[in-house]
Amino acid sequence: MTESLVNLTLVQALDGLKKKSFSSVELTHAYLANMQQKRNLNAYISETPDKALAMAKQSDQRRVKDMVGLLEGVPVAIKDLFCTEGVKTTAASRILENFIPTYESTITQNIWKNGAVLLGKTNLDEFAMGSSNITSHFGPVISPWKHGSDRNKKLVPGGSSGGSAAAVSARLAVAATGTDTGGSIRQPAAFVGIVGLKPTYGLCSRWGIVAFASSLDQAGPMARTVGDTALMLQAMAGYDPQDSTSVNTQVPDYFAALKNYSLRGLKIGIPKEYVVPGMAPEIEKLWQQGMNWLKSAGAEIQEVQLPHTKYALPTYYIIAPAEASSNLARYDGVRYGLRIPAQTLDDMYELTRAAGFGREVKRRILIGTYVLSAGYYDAYYVKAQKLRALILQDFQEAYKKVDVILTPTAPTQAFGLGEKMSDPISMYLNDVFTVPVNLAGLPAISVPVGLSSDKLPLGLQLIGKPFGETTLLQVAHQLEKNASLKNDPDLGE
Ligand code: GLN
Repeated sequence: MTESLVNLTLVQALDGLKKKSFSSVELTHAYLANMQQKRNLNAYISETPDKALAMAKQSDQRRVKDMVGLLEGVPVAIKDLFCTEGVKTTAASRILENFIPTYESTITQNIWKNGAVLLGKTNLDEFAMGSSNITSHFGPVISPWKHGSDRNKKLVPGGSSGGSAAAVSARLAVAATGTDTGGSIRQPAAFVGIVGLKPTYGLCSRWGIVAFASSLDQAGPMARTVGDTALMLQAMAGYDPQDSTSVNTQVPDYFAALKNYSLRGLKIGIPKEYVVPGMAPEIEKLWQQGMNWLKSAGAEIQEVQLPHTKYALPTYYIIAPAEASSNLARYDGVRYGLRIPAQTLDDMYELTRAAGFGREVKRRILIGTYVLSAGYYDAYYVKAQKLRALILQDFQEAYKKVDVILTPTAPTQAFGLGEKMSDPISMYLNDVFTVPVNLAGLPAISVPVGLSSDKLPLGLQLIGKPFGETTLLQVAHQLEKNASLKNDPDLGE
C-alpha cells in the first residue's frame, strides 16, 4: 500500500484523496517513510515530519467540509531557497545555516493556500549557483538513477534544484518547487527524467525567495508529468504587489487546457545555433525524434535564427555574478545568520564572509564585484546588458515566424559526481541551452523524452512566447504522450 501510494502522480493522488481511497495523513506517512529509507540521496536539508503530519491532518479536516484547494492534501517538497516561516531556510550555505525566517514566501503561501503539505526543504547548490548540486554546504545530492554500464558510479542530479529533482524522481515528494536563474529547474529535471517549468519572468512572485540574480530568478514547478506540472504552476502563479516585477495578469487554467487541444498548424522553430560542439549525438537524434513527433501531431517545423546565442553564456556569467555580488552583500554577520566575532567591524565582516561562503559563491562575488567596478563597468557590465537586449531581439524576431522553439535541454546526460569540478568553464557550458531563456525572460519547459544508451534520462526543451505557458504545456503534453516513458529511476535495478 505504502509503496503504491508514492508511485501515484499528483493527479492520481488528488483523485485517490477525493474518492477517499486514502487520507492525506496516510499519503504523507508513505512519503515520510520513503524519505527515511532514501536519506543516502541527501535530497533534503531539513525534513519536517511533524509539520507535515499536522498539515495533512488539517487537510483531511478541510476535505470533510468540502473545502478543497488545487493541491489539497498532496505532500510536496520546497527548495531550501524559499523562506518558510519557522522552518530553517539555508540556501545550502553555511552563512544561513541556522536562519529561521519569520515570514513565508509568496509562492509557498500560495501552495499552502491550495492545500498542499510540506515534507521538507530540499538541497541545492549553495545560493543556487551551480549545475550539479555539488556546492551545497550540506553535501552533494546523489541522483537516484544508475549509469547503465557502471552501476557503482554516483551521478549528479543536476543543479541547482538538484534536491527537488532527486526528491520527485525518487518518490520522496509528489512534486516540488525549484528556482531557475540560468537553467536550475530545467537541467536537473532533464537529468532525472522529470518535468520542470521555468515561467515567464514576473509570473511567479520572487518575494521571500533568497535572491541570486534578481533580473533572472524565477520560481517554477518540478513534477513527474506535464499534467502535474500544470496544476503546480496554477497554484504557484499570480500577481503579488510585494514583488515589483510581478506582472498583473490573469492566471489561466493550465490544467484544463491539456484536456482538449490541437497542435495543427502550430509553428515550431528549430534554431540551428543550438547544434553545439560537444553535444552528444544521441541528444541530436532525440531532438530530431521530437520534431517528427510534433510534425505527426500536425505542427509545422521551421528553422529559425538566434544569431547571438554564442554570446549568451558570457553575458549570463557577467550579469548573474554582478547581481549576485550585490544581493549577497547583505550577509555581513550583522543581520542574518553566521557571525564570526572579531575586534573590529571590518574584521568581523571579513571573517564572517570568509567562513560563511563556499568557493563557488566567492568566485561569483569576485567576478561580480570586478565587472561592476568603476574601471570595468563599461567594458563588461554595460556590454553584457547590450548583448542581453540583442539576445531578446533574436527571440522576438523568431517569434514573428514561429509559436514555440524546440531544443535539447542540456548538451549531455547526467555526469558523475565530482566530474567537471576542476574546470568551472566546462561546468558553465552545461547551461548553454537554458541561459538564453532567462536572459530574455521567456518561459520554457523541459520534458523527459528518452533514455541514453547508458540508460539515463534525456530531456527536450520547449521555449515559449512571454506568458505562453499554456501552449508550452500542450506541446510538452504531446511529447510526453509520444515518448510514453516510464520515467522511473529504479529501471534496471
Ligand atoms: N547553472 C547556472 C549557474 O550556475 C544556473 C543556476 C540557476 O539557474 N540557479 O549560475
